Amino acid sequence: MLKKNHCPICQSSSLSDVLKRSSIPVYQNVLINNFEAARQIPRGDLEILECKECGFVYNSVFDTNKVVYGSDYENTQSYSTYFNSYLDELVETLVTQKGVSNLNVVEVGCGKGGFLKKIVEAGNNYGYGFDPSYIGPEVDCGGKLRFEKKLYNEESASFKADVVLCRHVIEHISEPVILLKSIRKALVHSPQARVFFETPCVDWIFENKVMFDFFYEHCSYFNEKSISKAFEFAGFEVVSIDRIFNGQYMWLEARPVEDNRELKNLSYTKYVDPRGLGFSKNEFEWKRKALEQVSIYSLGGKVALWGAGAKGVTFLNLIDPGVEYIDCVIDVNPNKVGNYIPGTGHEIIGIESLDNREFSTIIITNSNYLDEIKKIVQQKILNINLVDIETWSAQQE
Ligand SMILES: [Zn+2]
Repeated sequence: MLKKNHCPICQSSSLSDVLKRSSIPVYQNVLINNFEAARQIPRGDLEILECKECGFVYNSVFDTNKVVYGSDYENTQSYSTYFNSYLDELVETLVTQKGVSNLNVVEVGCGKGGFLKKIVEAGNNYGYGFDPSYIGPEVDCGGKLRFEKKLYNEESASFKADVVLCRHVIEHISEPVILLKSIRKALVHSPQARVFFETPCVDWIFENKVMFDFFYEHCSYFNEKSISKAFEFAGFEVVSIDRIFNGQYMWLEARPVEDNRELKNLSYTKYVDPRGLGFSKNEFEWKRKALEQVSIYSLGGKVALWGAGAKGVTFLNLIDPGVEYIDCVIDVNPNKVGNYIPGTGHEIIGIESLDNREFSTIIITNSNYLDEIKKIVQQKILNINLVDIETWSAQQE
């Protein structure tokens, strides 16, 4: 794989190293129903670079051909009550504060369409979900919700869009400006459209030293500055950027501007302070400490990990690739139960199996879910030690 030595956003060749990992699973959220297949998953490398000019962070050796999102891709998070109420709040904000009601709403990369359905129902909107990997009925909500099994681009310009939503897509795209330009072209007849994007914030990852938030599926990592640049280069004006989900995600609002704006008008200041410097050294230390902790917990009894999402999958591949210390993974998404973790082959079990597995410790990869998990464990009257690795990584300071 040829290394990309120019920033995909601003084309600068002034780049600094963040971290390298070799032979990691290319998928984190794919369903694999047997151990051997999970161990034999295709692999790729991470060589994460940070642009010193715009702050964009990306995997310079990402191979687009290795990652194809098909029907076995499963990242539905709404089975979690915490995440579901987070989505409801987002919908509420859009409908009541942003006035997204009685409008034509397009969602780019709508997945199974759950979020768009909420928007249609809560705001009496018309919804158009675009996703090449969509499976399900073409029409829902009595005709108010339609799905198109294709990309949203200039060929979609005949749709009059008032609002375009795109959640957790752009971090999977190696050339984000090209994606944004194709959305811009789709809006050629909708100059008044408002565009909302949600993506993880790489500054949160750096600030909290969350090593397992770098993985193959995410080839592009943004902060406020780099995402603004990407939108400006594609012909949008950024209206606002907020940090949401306790700082882990950014929520951006933009609107299209004339294509022929000159680049010199862009608000451009040099970025001189790379945030990811020394991250590799941090990773080395963190891994050593994490291994030590996990082996201590395993001496006290059976250890499980909560959450078979990308964070959990990456954690296991870094810390327990041989299934030595962690027995299995618990997930509330019934579609994941009975499958195996890509790369390591840890079994995924449901919460109904908690009672008879006799765990002494459960490791939690995202502290946003801590209260929800505590409640589940308390209701079952189980005496289990819950360990939040985000705090534990912070405690290493
Ligand atoms: Zn750049």
